[in-house]
Amino acid sequence: MLVVMQEGATVAQTEAVIERLVEMGFTVHRSTGVRHTVLGGVGPLDDFDPAELEVLAGVKECHRIVSPYKLASRSFKPAGTIVKIGKVEIGGAKVVAMAGPCSIETEEQIETSAAIVARAGAQVIRGGAFKPRSSPYSFQGLGEAGLKLIRAAADRHGLAVVSEVMDAVQIPLLVEYSDILQVGARNMQNFNLLRELGKVRKPVLVKRGIAATLEELLLSAEYVMSGGNYEVILCERGIRTFETSTRNTMDISAIPVLKRLTHLPVVADPSHGTGKRDYVLPMAYAAVAAGADGLLVEVHPDPDHAVSDGAQTLRPEQFSEMMRQTQAIAAAIGRAA
Ligand code: PEP
Ligand code: MN
Repeated sequence: MLVVMQEGATVAQTEAVIERLVEMGFTVHRSTGVRHTVLGGVGPLDDFDPAELEVLAGVKECHRIVSPYKLASRSFKPAGTIVKIGKVEIGGAKVVAMAGPCSIETEEQIETSAAIVARAGAQVIRGGAFKPRSSPYSFQGLGEAGLKLIRAAADRHGLAVVSEVMDAVQIPLLVEYSDILQVGARNMQNFNLLRELGKVRKPVLVKRGIAATLEELLLSAEYVMSGGNYEVILCERGIRTFETSTRNTMDISAIPVLKRLTHLPVVADPSHGTGKRDYVLPMAYAAVAAGADGLLVEVHPDPDHAVSDGAQTLRPEQFSEMMRQTQAIAAAIGRAA
């Protein structure tokens, strides 16, 4: 931890800061420069708030050197984590496609979706049975009936399943029917839910909150991992900015940054990231080029009649095109598709 004193800070102010650091358990190393005194604190604490020191008289700024997440940190497992579901490996050489409708609607819809995405090369089918909708009057999902339908369709086509869990009470159902439990953007900081998912022994895919920093996303992963569940996949799905041309702003730079900070697999969701199907393919390509371990995309046999997120949902032929092109991009950057 580093504390930079203001230019002109008095000796008494510097000593008061040192005293506070010592109280907090730090050993303090002092370096007096021409303009600034810099205090280096070495100590056991790394979950403190730097703002606590920044408000002290004479302090210019304070920087934490050690990351507040441990288990999620790249240094914990430098080689990287591969999450395995049967033959599917997320975080390995192959870029994994997870595709399907926003919501599970009917048996026919999910069966056709499974056939379409499996034929094009996806390994995981997505589809929500519990839907976090902005309006309480919108379709909320089929619940357990939907989970049964997606499981059966996935099994018929040799696919794994990813589906969203919105509340801790739904965990047993998701564990029964889904291979990966998705935590949606709105729940990224539902700490009770994250803690409960730490007790599960199935992979958890945590989506970035609409206004969450990457450090906050990694701390959410840390909640799950601190419960003993190390199979966490992170997902960049766009953040809210001042731009209105797209539903969210797809933060492609989050991908290489996360890959440096953490050993966990990182996937990208260009569907929610853009909100419009014409932009999904370019952002999917960019995500793969930037190092994403997988793509989570919405595909529907008839997107114009989808019950949710139709505008951002790919038509079957667009998805096939996406799969062809991502293969070429993956090969160009030295990975399999
Ligand atoms: C979803 O994937 O269906 C979803 C609701 O995404 P997000 O939580 O990213 O909005
Ligand atoms: Mn959706």
